[in-house]
Amino acid sequence: MSAVAFVTESSVFSASADGVLPAPLPVVGRDVRVPLVTGGDAEYAALDYAASAPCLQRVWDDVAAYLPYYGSVHRGAGYLSQLSTDLYEQSRATVAGYLDARADDVVLFTRGTTDSLNLLAAALPAGTRVFVFETEHHAALLPWRRTADVTQLPAPGSPAEAVAALDAALAASDPGTPRLVCVTGASNVTGELFPVAELAATAHRHGARIVLDAAQLAPHHKVSLAGLDVDWVAFSGHKLYAPFGAGVLAGRGDWLAEAEPYLAGGGASKTVTADAVEWNDGSARHEAGSPNVVGAYAIASACRALDEAGLEGLAAREGALLARLRAGLADIPEVRTLDLFGPESARVSVLSFVVEGWNSSRFAAALSAEYGIGVRDGLFCAHPLVRKLLGGRSDAPTECGAPDAPAGEQNLNAIRVSFGAGTPEEHLDRFVAAVRELVARGA
Ligand code: PLP
Repeated sequence: MSAVAFVTESSVFSASADGVLPAPLPVVGRDVRVPLVTGGDAEYAALDYAASAPCLQRVWDDVAAYLPYYGSVHRGAGYLSQLSTDLYEQSRATVAGYLDARADDVVLFTRGTTDSLNLLAAALPAGTRVFVFETEHHAALLPWRRTADVTQLPAPGSPAEAVAALDAALAASDPGTPRLVCVTGASNVTGELFPVAELAATAHRHGARIVLDAAQLAPHHKVSLAGLDVDWVAFSGHKLYAPFGAGVLAGRGDWLAEAEPYLAGGGASKTVTADAVEWNDGSARHEAGSPNVVGAYAIASACRALDEAGLEGLAAREGALLARLRAGLADIPEVRTLDLFGPESARVSVLSFVVEGWNSSRFAAALSAEYGIGVRDGLFCAHPLVRKLLGGRSDAPTECGAPDAPAGEQNLNAIRVSFGAGTPEEHLDRFVAAVRELVARGA
């Protein structure tokens, strides 16, 4: 089948000449059935990839093949310990290659993006000022408040405005202070892409550094440390089709080498006496405790699988599905989708919306109970952004995964639908049909 390019409202993507999309990648749990309140059951439609994506079958197979050989890492003389240590370090090398790491970059395995960004926050030189947009996920918004001075930039109205706002803020800051910019690659609320390369160039022009929160970007697009010229990148395995409790922080080694270890304990320490300790260098310095070798191996397996499948082709397929989803929802006047930069902006397959006359949490619950469709409701751990997009009170005391708004009160929650490489077209068609039915029926 030869590929041709189509131009949609918002993106350029390719599909086969006959308009047939390539098949989804095989994922574990594709045939799980869930009970419905109406009686019977339905094939589960997992449309919450932005929270946690299903495991690629390929990753599952790799992990299953490894498990009989599981052993402790960097702390055992036995054959299986040696093997596990080799696989752990090979996984590090695979991730470094996948991210186009530079020669002096380090790759650390963590528990996920939140852990990675907290680790970096703990390693900042004294007096660092961090610049962050208020549109960030809390994992990228909050860690700096504990360890640095923070300049919080208002939500930008466009990618160009983001670059201009950062430029102005950096120009007004003290060049003698260590400065770090933290930015998301793709919003976990709107899916919109931030201009990472331009923001990195702006940061570097002012002598600042930049860390990329790639939790939502990495599952959909190539993330290149060297290509984007970002100093660090953080992402989570469970959003990259490797749900085994691991994540990555990769990038410049100097601040990390000078910082106190993130955790104190075995592995991080080289020599310990009754009252003194000499800490290790390199990745070991910040990986105290027995490492999650299964998680690291699963991430490396996912990197290989995505490389082989081709991220460009996967993004093209997701772009086609997203255009179809948006067109389906646009036909339902009660549905309002949430955009920061506007409906035409480049984005990944993440879309948030509200439904007129419905409380979002009740709507999401109905999608699950009556149709077997799993989406997310709430404020998506990005309270300032979602409140802004909803036009609600900025001080509303709602939490992540917020409960129903009181009757008669403005809808303070949203609904998020997100998908990826394993999503079949029919799940999205089922979703649009369910939304149409619920809207027609009324709250
Ligand atoms: N950053 C973004 C943009 C996210 O979407 C998320 C999770 O949803 C995180 C960070 C935190 O990731 P984790 O919960 O895996 O630490």
